[in-house]
Amino acid sequence: MSAVETPRRGACPSLPEPMQTGDGLLARLQPLAPLNLDQLAGLARLAAELGNGIIEVTARGKLQLRGLRAETVPGLPEAVAALGIEVPQGFPVEVSALAGLDPMGRVDPRPLARAISDGAAHLVPRLAPKASVVVDGGGLFRLGGLKADIAVSAGAGWHSVALAGVPLGEVEPARAAELVIALLEQLAARGTSARMAELVAGEEIENLRTVFGLAPPAATPDEGIDPVGRHALGDGRFALGVGLAFGQVEAKALAALAEAAAQAGVRHAEPAAGRALLLVGLTTEAARGLREVAAGLGFLTDATDPRRRVYACAGRPACGSGRIATHELAAELAPLLDGRDLHVSGCSKGCAHPSKAALTIVGLDEGAGLVVEGTPRDVPRAVLPFDGLARHVHALMQKDLA
Ligand code: SF4
Repeated sequence: MSAVETPRRGACPSLPEPMQTGDGLLARLQPLAPLNLDQLAGLARLAAELGNGIIEVTARGKLQLRGLRAETVPGLPEAVAALGIEVPQGFPVEVSALAGLDPMGRVDPRPLARAISDGAAHLVPRLAPKASVVVDGGGLFRLGGLKADIAVSAGAGWHSVALAGVPLGEVEPARAAELVIALLEQLAARGTSARMAELVAGEEIENLRTVFGLAPPAATPDEGIDPVGRHALGDGRFALGVGLAFGQVEAKALAALAEAAAQAGVRHAEPAAGRALLLVGLTTEAARGLREVAAGLGFLTDATDPRRRVYACAGRPACGSGRIATHELAAELAPLLDGRDLHVSGCSKGCAHPSKAALTIVGLDEGAGLVVEGTPRDVPRAVLPFDGLARHVHALMQKDLA
């Protein structure tokens, strides 16, 4: 299909199949390897030239370029390839950040991820577009908190497998790829909209345990730590994790970060689950200096920053569908949240956070809807006027939601 035709219903946006959003077309990419700093700067340039200059790192650690146009989209895959950035060709499998470099990692998850990706490539047309597999190698940054049809938590002796968050069993490392591919075959056999959550809800997990000869695993994998901050790598060097406020950064700030990172001696950069970017290979002193530069450019450098708990889409004015200046409002409300998470959505599409949040503010025709423990599509508890919105929300938070 051409790049600007409507993608398959429910499909994830990709480089060749971007998705239409309120601010233009959105392309997502999951680089196969960490990026060198020329590649990072190159992506910033492409975002400005071909899109509206907004780059995102998603909750799953994927990169997104926003505001692409019908005439710029066809050149994007080639432009990305020209930067030397490889993207998965088979079934896309997600691995934890710093895979192979994490001093706390139990195993390098990449060989298993590659075996699954290659072995399941032929199933892609028969699987639901959003079917997902993650392989977590243990260590600092875990993928346990991510929703996945199949999650493998790799250990030195045994790998634990969970389906839609429900523990399935433990498998020898040598059999893990074969098991995951067989599970994907089971899913594919149920049609192109089947997801593991339905199998689990249908109590088929016991059948699957019997079919594959698995016992329930002993422990559930934990979620790891926030990537934002400084992390020792075990070779005397550090990785500095910087968060993207509301998951987004302007191309200019990203290019400036790439330049400062090069001067600071960073070896490579990689997006991390949790809307962050890891800058790898720094000395203590260089990490301190780069942290200051990153903070000056608007990146979040402290894991306790309340904006780490806020999800906000591009909103007004970047997105044509936005009825709220999402970032302004989110920045104003973030310090008042008292540990709760907040989702500010310019419209009911909810691009930034499809799941529930403690508090959601959504732009509607009649005003700003306030949803408690829900999503932008849920019925709001109150609809507030756009004028003085932060003040109104704050007053309601103190009164009703305490
Ligand atoms: S949710 Fe936000 S980014 Fe998505 S279409 Fe609506 S306003 Fe635009």
